[in-house]
Amino acid sequence: MRWLSRDYAHLWHPFTAADEWEQQAENRVIERGEGVWLIDTDGQRFLDGTASLWCNILGHQHPALDAAIQTQLGRIAHTTMLGLTHPGAVEHAERLCALTGLDRVFYSDSGSTAVEVALKMAFQACQQRGEARRTRFAALSEAYHGDTVGSVSLGGIELFHSLYRPLLFEAVRIPSPERAEAQEEQACLRAAEVLFAAHGSELAALVVEPLVQGAAGLRLHSPAFLDRLCRMAKQAGAYVVFDEVATGFGRLGTMFAMDQVEERPDFLCLAKAITGGYLPLAATVTTEAVYDCFRGPYTDYRTFFHGHTYTGNPLAVAAALATLYVIHDTSLLAALPQRIALLHEELARLQHPCIAEHRHIGMMAGVVLRQPDGEPFPAEQRIGHRVALATRRHGAIVRNLGDTVMVMPPLVIEAAETRALMQAVGAAIVDVLG
Ligand SMILES: *Cc1c(COP(=O)(O)O)cnc(C)c1O
Repeated sequence: MRWLSRDYAHLWHPFTAADEWEQQAENRVIERGEGVWLIDTDGQRFLDGTASLWCNILGHQHPALDAAIQTQLGRIAHTTMLGLTHPGAVEHAERLCALTGLDRVFYSDSGSTAVEVALKMAFQACQQRGEARRTRFAALSEAYHGDTVGSVSLGGIELFHSLYRPLLFEAVRIPSPERAEAQEEQACLRAAEVLFAAHGSELAALVVEPLVQGAAGLRLHSPAFLDRLCRMAKQAGAYVVFDEVATGFGRLGTMFAMDQVEERPDFLCLAKAITGGYLPLAATVTTEAVYDCFRGPYTDYRTFFHGHTYTGNPLAVAAALATLYVIHDTSLLAALPQRIALLHEELARLQHPCIAEHRHIGMMAGVVLRQPDGEPFPAEQRIGHRVALATRRHGAIVRNLGDTVMVMPPLVIEAAETRALMQAVGAAIVDVLG
């Protein structure tokens, strides 16, 4: 336990309650990974049921990804994209454009920055198109777009975002349905119509997580709902931004969530699985029409004055390119319908008086825990958190969002491993709730 006591002395963990962290017996020190397994310093193996926070799609120590990074390391680890370019970025950008039908790739290094970049680009494009009034953004209730101040402004999760309100700009908040049910969606669309009528001419963009609001605990909406919302935004003259940080690269069974809808976004934000879950990289992908708003003589100052030091890092881009090759060469998407069906089946097999709901879309599953009478558990009981920790005793790592236990394995997970993962969650629920 020497690593843990040293950790407690100096580390500060994201989204982690300090006192709880220092007292939890279930803390583990992860030293290695192999495929869908994480291995701790005691040699114990755990199924990676969070895909290392939703980003590992191909497994750990993937030979092709390891080799691509090693090859790149033999050339150069980092060179700037400010005023220079490199072959990996050129090739990866070409491929992203071919895959998305969009035209321009701006790299950064996290999902939050990908969203931040889209916000600033959309705003500046409006300004430079002569539409100075378009200074606002529409976002959904319960949205999550990252943790920087701009992306937090778009966020609608009370627990994560409300404290920061005094620091934030105010989004036009469109109610989002909790489930893809017609009646609920109709009510949200009627509210959206009213909001677009009142604020449409002030909007630079509508920003949405297409088809699933993951961080809200898997709130789902239908493709038809999303298409309607996009058309409202476009009719109002606003851009559409899809935040596919969680859904990109196969998570929903298609390469992107947008492949399941008719409307096309003007901006696509990608991160998480873009490098297979290996290295930090993000991309904001947009249209030539947007890029054209930034052209002109230098002294018109239409340049996008934004960039991060490690933008387009060659090692990360090498991992990203290898990820695209592996997805293609192994026909990963073709294998997904079967894996998705099994994940949903195994989820449905979990039955307990405190399981109020099974939520799922693609390779994302959520178990919603409530008291048998349907009331939420008191927050101080930390039920979701305790179930997530108890799952470790049964050989799997998962995380909770409130009292929703989330299961998001790497996309390469085999049938036996999926079963073991869901059984671990089921056993943990019994451990904590009897
Ligand atoms: C994770 C996530 C982000 C933030 O990405 P980071 O890399 O953690 O900054 C933004 N949007 C969505 C939908 C996400 O799931």
